[in-house]
Amino acid sequence: MRKPIIAGNWKMYKTFDEATEFVEAVRDKIPSEEIVDAVICAPALYLPTLVDIAFETDLAIGAQNMHFENEGAFTGEISPAQLSAVNVDYVIIGHSERREYFNETDEAVNKKVRAAMNHGIVPIICCGETLEEREANQTEQKVEKQVKAALDGFTVEEVEHMVIAYEPIWAIGTGKTATADDANTVCGAIRNVVEELYGRDTSEKIRIQYGGSVKPENIKELLSKEHIDGALVGGASLQVDSYLKLLEAA
Ligand code: 13P
Repeated sequence: MRKPIIAGNWKMYKTFDEATEFVEAVRDKIPSEEIVDAVICAPALYLPTLVDIAFETDLAIGAQNMHFENEGAFTGEISPAQLSAVNVDYVIIGHSERREYFNETDEAVNKKVRAAMNHGIVPIICCGETLEEREANQTEQKVEKQVKAALDGFTVEEVEHMVIAYEPIWAIGTGKTATADDANTVCGAIRNVVEELYGRDTSEKIRIQYGGSVKPENIKELLSKEHIDGALVGGASLQVDSYLKLLEAA
């Protein structure tokens, strides 16, 4: 049995005070990490403070992006070494918003996953199709290409610790969710790609999340599906009540 992982992606929301108040409010209400992995991926500016507030609780803190180099003349960027030095546990890599607005390529995603693994940070690797691609029946093809590129060049032990998030772009922030069966089909196709590359054992261990308009009302059905091991949640992770409800569902 794979342990569910529910991660909030706050994107570019919340002031410093709102972020610290949120983590103070939830940290002692998080279900045990033996049952569910609970993560908040916050704006980089707040990470050290949130890691401190969540210290020795069942809440883990993640970043939303990073560079693949450890240091250098990359104005405005944050490195894996910098994230690991402040004890960040997770990092979202290759979110569709980064791919679309910041020209992140499959190759850069692969380098970032490499860098995360080198620093003991768990990557949450995002993939997903546009509406046009879905309508042209290219969903699996697109997602398989992204996953193959991201997972190129690792050991089975490394891949077992990664998390993949399937996020159909048309479902992000739109209120439209993929049906649980459709999401499960694509997550199953992703698991098959992992099996093809790294074997059955690894494909049974890697966790695959669904993301895209996940809410307390639909998370139970999504999590009941064979290949969906958790959720990557934007909007519904911003309020204390709904974030806790998402965790309770797991
Ligand atoms: P929403 O849950 O707001 O649709 O966002 C999904 C997402 O992009 C999480 O990374």
